[in-house]
Amino acid sequence: MRIVVKVGTSTLAHSTGHLNIRRVEELCRVLSDLKNAGHQVVLVSSGAIGMGVGKLGLKTRPTDMPGKQAAAAVGQCELMYTYDKLFGEYNHTVAQVLLTGEDVENPERRLNATNTLSRLLELGALPVINENDTVATHEIAVGDNDTLSAIVAECVSADLLVLLTDIDGLYTADPHKDKNAKLISRVEGVTDEILALAGGAGSSLGTGGMATKLRAAQMANAAGIDMVIANGDAPEVLYDIIDGKAVGTRFLAEK
Ligand code: GLU
Repeated sequence: MRIVVKVGTSTLAHSTGHLNIRRVEELCRVLSDLKNAGHQVVLVSSGAIGMGVGKLGLKTRPTDMPGKQAAAAVGQCELMYTYDKLFGEYNHTVAQVLLTGEDVENPERRLNATNTLSRLLELGALPVINENDTVATHEIAVGDNDTLSAIVAECVSADLLVLLTDIDGLYTADPHKDKNAKLISRVEGVTDEILALAGGAGSSLGTGGMATKLRAAQMANAAGIDMVIANGDAPEVLYDIIDGKAVGTRFLAEK
């Protein structure tokens, strides 16, 4: 199976902005094991800005463009250093791929990126993808990694896209506010009714939220790819997800 896994800042970092070491170690162990089992894995990782905030000792996430770009430049290094070290322990080789909206919208550049990703997978490497936040201003940015991960899944013709986040999946209502909210385990078609279930943006460290995840589901499903939203608390859930077990919310591909 060719799997694209997206992890959000809320999964990778503590609320301080510093790395959640235990979580990231588990994630790298599980992904390494999936590779050992013969799966091809692409990791779309957020966390550059969040980790830059931690490393620079900033009190809050910067809101201005140069501030975010500077934080991303610092945090992206830390992110790749961490992945290189942890995947290296299991003899897997990581490859950093930083993309912007322009790289995936322009057909020629998209083909270039796709060819590189395919070659990396053929070579047995594990591409780690993020938006190139240091240079991506609003006009040229994809803007969020949920959307970016759906684009990447389409480029590499993935069999499955998994978004690991800080909630178990899509609920019938906001579970933080409504005790009767129920997890929806399967979605066949992201209808307007489903879209209406998305609340606002996510945590203080990341940029996503349910709305961008549902948009990613629409894109992946339209490209014939199943997508799962699951809690990144325990990266071991990836084993069950790949076995097709009911974990989180599965959005079924259009046939
Ligand atoms: N690219 C951003 C980062 O690495 C995160 C974008 C997102 O969370 O959607 O910090």
